[in-house]
Amino acid sequence: MNETPRVTFDLDAPGLSMGHLVVPEGSDCEALSLPVFSLNKGEGPRLLITGGCHGNELEGPIVARRVIEWLPEAQTCGRIIVVPELNPLAVQASTRNTPVDGVNLNRVYPGRAGGSVTERIADAISRLLLPMADTVFDLHSFGPTWDFPPAIITHPIADADLMAKTLKMAEACKMPVTLLWEYDVPGMFDTWVHSQGKLFICAEFGGGTVGAEALCIYESGVRNALIALGLVEGKAEHPTYRQKKSSQTLESLLSDELKSPACGIFEPRRSMLDEVNQGDLLGVLHPMDSLSAGSIDIRAPTTSIVCAIRSGGYVESGEEIVYLARPLNL
Ligand SMILES: [Zn+2]
Repeated sequence: MNETPRVTFDLDAPGLSMGHLVVPEGSDCEALSLPVFSLNKGEGPRLLITGGCHGNELEGPIVARRVIEWLPEAQTCGRIIVVPELNPLAVQASTRNTPVDGVNLNRVYPGRAGGSVTERIADAISRLLLPMADTVFDLHSFGPTWDFPPAIITHPIADADLMAKTLKMAEACKMPVTLLWEYDVPGMFDTWVHSQGKLFICAEFGGGTVGAEALCIYESGVRNALIALGLVEGKAEHPTYRQKKSSQTLESLLSDELKSPACGIFEPRRSMLDEVNQGDLLGVLHPMDSLSAGSIDIRAPTTSIVCAIRSGGYVESGEEIVYLARPLNL
């Protein structure tokens, strides 16, 4: 019960090597073995790529494994460590949180050695793999209940220099959207990595399905980032999305988060990336708790762009239903 996490192979071995990150057992769960791939071509940038933090966001684990197929040949220098599934328990259960303890892995960093299994995963990553990297790409999706464009997300960072570097790195992925997202929750991997002065960008992809086109866009974003870091040679290219090859950088503030005023079925009336004026109808909420309750219009409080909107489905009162955004002006 008092074991410490360990890696089963030599991360310093040259070339491609693989093994496991062992998260020790605890009172709630036996030990976990997370597959780890290390690609060591000596001096150069040091990168950690992680996927599968949330078990219902499977673009990341798939793209991480696709990258491992071509990276050994394409990589020209530096060190890359890839962990396709950070949270195998959540992936197996297709749930956002770890089913054993009900905890969101992206809320417990830097983790706790003697904590629940989710905290032990975060502790193992923080302790053994993060020190091996100067940059982290964490591959998420917005999840199956949202309509959301392929995007790279970063949060506001107090350190202006790190903020500028992070935005530059995010834009280098050339995804259709780069989003500076004001989102204030404790324990995120982002915040922990940034607090150590390291670069962290988060890929997010919504839409509800893990389709072939989405995976191609996602993979090209990761490839572009590898080129920008100097780990892979080549020319970064915009992926085609909605018949366009373009990118835009948006900002979403805390006040751009619209929550459902009641529980019921949310009916979207707008799609992601629609431009809306103040007062425009974004969606309709159909309460189910009364025969007399009428539907509730959800309207845009400001002229903005729909960055994320819930797919049609049941929502609780106070649950997020729309994130608005606008072009970032620095
Ligand atoms: Zn996620």
